[in-house]
Amino acid sequence: MFEQTVEALKKRGFEVEAVATRQEALALVMKEAESAASVGWGGSESVKEIGARARLVESGKEIRDHQLVCDLFLLSANALTTDGRIVNIDGTGNRVAASICGPKRVVYVIGRNKIVDGGLDEAIARIRRCACPPNAKRLGKRTPCGLAGACVGGEGCDSPDRMCKVTAVFDRKPTGISAKVILVDEDLGY
Ligand code: SF4
Repeated sequence: MFEQTVEALKKRGFEVEAVATRQEALALVMKEAESAASVGWGGSESVKEIGARARLVESGKEIRDHQLVCDLFLLSANALTTDGRIVNIDGTGNRVAASICGPKRVVYVIGRNKIVDGGLDEAIARIRRCACPPNAKRLGKRTPCGLAGACVGGEGCDSPDRMCKVTAVFDRKPTGISAKVILVDEDLGY
């Protein structure tokens, strides 16, 4: 599935670097950041887990959370289909907005655990099953998935804290942005 996804992402217009370890992913992120004065961070646990956020702060980079105007925007994906579509869900839309336009460079750090072999339906199911419950708990969201640990289904969730309000599906790399996916053959984030 890993190699298939790498090739599918390339066909959809993304630059792709496939690496075996988080250490290799960190080295690539730090290389990307060399020429960036400001780095935006999409609240990504994957980016944190490879140690990039801490290293960027140590190196004196200006870190902005969810910024549309930055030299380099770092984020992950909530799900990635084997046919190369990146899927992200937001409550406010600021993360997906910055991944579509604004930053000079967009770099995704995506662990193998985000890859799904069932198209968009499975991508959404994965997000509601694996990503939203721990994210809701971490952020103290009073959603069904945060309070009870499981999604009640999209139409059954009317919580003001609902995280599934905006869904972005990248069928191709958007025109006019420079974007790379660093695909890591390790589990990262959720
Ligand atoms: S729809 Fe609501 S309960 Fe379901 S995953 Fe999204 S925020 Fe959680």
